[in-house]
Amino acid sequence: MNIAIPTEAKQMQSIVEKVRAGERLNREDGVFLYHTDDLLTIGQLANEVNLQKNGRKVYFIENMSLYFTNVCEAHCAFCNFRKDQGQDGSYTLSGEEMIAYVEQHIHPDVREFHIVGGHNPHVPFQYYVDSLKALHERFPEVALKAYTAAEIDFFSRISGLNYREVIQELMKVGLVSLTGGGAEILSDEYRKKMKVDKADVSQYLEVHRTAHDLGLRTHTTMLYGSVEKKEDRIDHMLQIRELQDETNGFQVFIPLSMQPISPKASIRRRNSAFDDLKAIAISRLMLDNIKHIKAYFINIGTQLTQVALTMGASDVHGTMVKERISHAAGALTPEGITREDLIWLIKGAGRIPVERDTFYNEVKVYE
Ligand code: SF4
Repeated sequence: MNIAIPTEAKQMQSIVEKVRAGERLNREDGVFLYHTDDLLTIGQLANEVNLQKNGRKVYFIENMSLYFTNVCEAHCAFCNFRKDQGQDGSYTLSGEEMIAYVEQHIHPDVREFHIVGGHNPHVPFQYYVDSLKALHERFPEVALKAYTAAEIDFFSRISGLNYREVIQELMKVGLVSLTGGGAEILSDEYRKKMKVDKADVSQYLEVHRTAHDLGLRTHTTMLYGSVEKKEDRIDHMLQIRELQDETNGFQVFIPLSMQPISPKASIRRRNSAFDDLKAIAISRLMLDNIKHIKAYFINIGTQLTQVALTMGASDVHGTMVKERISHAAGALTPEGITREDLIWLIKGAGRIPVERDTFYNEVKVYE
């Protein structure tokens, strides 16, 4: 007697076989993974892929988040960080003010500044150059991972320089990598709905393409959990995968779970743990050409981050010191975390903590 195997189980089986044979998943596979509720199989498969790529090592960095300005000309519907010039709580720090702040809060082992901020049109491009320069002169040993692709596009607009020239100017004063923000969902329809009035899809990709061509290795993100369809998430991953095939410049993909406080985006709930784990696992399966998937503990919490380490994640970001953007939008996690807590978190998932630098060189392995 033949026992009928349901179509869904057959489709999952064919994906399992493809992944184990090292074959690339296509759009249809990705959409199926998002529509099935078989999280355990997806997670297990993503874990297998991650173990092949990274073994049991999970990476973190001693870093510090810095925000030179929260004044922004854009009005992304999900953003609760931006302010108008002159509005209560708005600020634009000079290089000296930032140095004073850093001197007050820095840990002795911080090896990277993660710098992002608003698109402030009330100061010239030179302000953004001078900000990096001041930091680099005072802390030459700390790597500057600064600005999103959307910020680079904004700098290009206010300076009249092209992307290559903007990035080169910033490299002259110490820039070594770009942050991954500004990607949101790489769909023009999504960007219209969410009022993402900054770099569009092709501009986001072009900035990273240019940075990679200039020898920078960068990060990339996906802000999921609002009006986008599951298909949009897969199309987002496919666009990143295609650019990575061309440049091999992305070091890590970071799924960012949307936070609930967004005055204009009508988001009333946090994403489910189920959806957060799926984002990690599915991106691990779709992005076969990116070495690391990051579980961003700030947005999904430390406990879910531990589980994510068994479903494809191989990086937990870093110590941060004082995160502001996700917290303005309602993140419940601490604004920073200690190295000891990160090590505890990783070991708690049965993995080996590895302290890294900006380029994923190993600094210390905590066996
Ligand atoms: S997400 Fe960035 S670009 Fe958009 S409004 Fe907020 S600070 Fe401005």
